[in-house]
Amino acid sequence: MIVAQPKPIREILEMVKDFRKILVVGCKGCVTVCNVGGAKEVGILAASLRIARKRSGHAIQVDEHTLERQCDPEYIAELKDIVGDYDAVISIACGVGPQFLSERYPSTRVFPGVNTQFMGGAEAHGVWSERCAGCGTCVVHYFGGLCPIARCSKSLLNGPCGGSSHGKCEISNEVECIWDTIVNKMTEQGRLNELLEFRPPKSWTTARDGGPRKMIREELVK
Ligand code: SF4
Ligand code: SF4
Repeated sequence: MIVAQPKPIREILEMVKDFRKILVVGCKGCVTVCNVGGAKEVGILAASLRIARKRSGHAIQVDEHTLERQCDPEYIAELKDIVGDYDAVISIACGVGPQFLSERYPSTRVFPGVNTQFMGGAEAHGVWSERCAGCGTCVVHYFGGLCPIARCSKSLLNGPCGGSSHGKCEISNEVECIWDTIVNKMTEQGRLNELLEFRPPKSWTTARDGGPRKMIREELVK
């Protein structure tokens, strides 16, 4: 899933300080799963804004709405009859949400209420970590099912750097050196020799380095 975290309330208050009628829009997708942008969090943010503005002597109206997803136009369309009633919209979906809202409703001021972090999963309750950098050509099968692009601090594809120490990355002894883990796993599986096989350099044209990407599935296009 896409993992995000809330923006500080002070930052959001500053963003919308000139507005009096605000709509907070959540998403029932990834941000609900990581407890940052679902209906519950829409309610919490809306209440926090109302209280803070009332305390500062500038009371405002803050309404709440949570869409099935903010990354699909049919759900964004749900707001068409109400969005014009507001001075500003705060989206607490991932970064796709405020952009889809801005594109669909060009005269509406849209603000992001969360900071989108990465594609990852839950290691434990309340703990998420990065797993995929969306390189566009998955190669984890070469590395024991683990991704050195997303999980090595230098995205190395040919073994650990000289900074690897006792299983930890040189950037912090809190960070696993994924190359240490890959080597140990391949050794346990009796496949260490596979890491020595020559492979041509990875093409990054399918990654973000090739510019903004688009995927067209002809069989789904009407
Ligand atoms: S190899 Fe690419 S697609 Fe596969 S997990 Fe890593 S970044 Fe994601
Ligand atoms: S110490 Fe390991 S994880 Fe850190 S940059 Fe070097 S190889 Fe990558």
